[in-house]
Amino acid sequence: MNQYQAPEGLLTNRTILISGAGDGIGAEAAKTFASHGASCILLGRTVSKLEKVYDEIISAGGPEPAIVPLDLNGATPKHYQDMARTIEDQFGCLDGVLHNASLLGELCPFEEIKPEEWQQVMQVNVSAAAYMTQALMGVLRKSADASVVFTTSSVGRVGRAFWGTYSVSKFATEGMMQVLAAEYTNRNVRFNCINPGATRTQMRAKAFPAEDATKLKTPAEIMPLYLYLMGPDSKGVNGQSLDCQPK
Ligand code: NDP
Repeated sequence: MNQYQAPEGLLTNRTILISGAGDGIGAEAAKTFASHGASCILLGRTVSKLEKVYDEIISAGGPEPAIVPLDLNGATPKHYQDMARTIEDQFGCLDGVLHNASLLGELCPFEEIKPEEWQQVMQVNVSAAAYMTQALMGVLRKSADASVVFTTSSVGRVGRAFWGTYSVSKFATEGMMQVLAAEYTNRNVRFNCINPGATRTQMRAKAFPAEDATKLKTPAEIMPLYLYLMGPDSKGVNGQSLDCQPK
């Protein structure tokens, strides 16, 4: 699937919400989904970055996206419920969600993790995705074929020293995906995880400041798996955690 070649118009008539759509992998995913015909809902906390992605989609001739400025750290279930109502009014249904926004937090020994840091990373990486998914279920069920994709990491499968909160948050992400997938077998909404692998973004540069970033895959290079999981060719794939860059 990481070699998947998406047919033209793969996502035509689909509405897809992308969290963290202003930068890195999320920005690339939004532009890629739009270039395959999707109407994108760009959710993020920095409006200027979302506007840049919006402009790039329009300049490339894609469907007009919607912008949802929201800081996942402060957002409450009510914000997600209001957003779900607006999506239903505007689009009727929702065909895809890419839970992509995450915080890395500080890399440090476990016993030095600060409670505020733990709270913030768990809020953005786990609780926000949980509350957002709960609120969006109604509008996702209205789609004939909806795909919810969570973003994991290799440290969400095997714990790594000093990656404390982030690593734990990605284990929780894998668990949340598995619980949802088990509740929705043989239904019109499927749940899977993507592990992007080492990818040239600001988060990766923060985690590995000394490495040569030119040797890393760009977000554009890992898009085939994102397209596969968002499109109809992955219908029936549920409860999987897939790698963009298998070893
Ligand atoms: P970036 O840091 O480049 O982008 C993260 C995005 O999430 C940004 O747009 C950021 O917004 C947004 N975001 C962060 N906090 C919030 C918040 N409180 N509210 C709303 N939006 C927020 O990360 P990547 O593109 O590298 O990562 C994307 C996903 O891939 C993450 O889930 C990450 O864990 C995962 N991943 C990445 C890997 C890599 O090598 N890059 C490897 C494995 C997993 P803003 O621009 O405003 O800061």
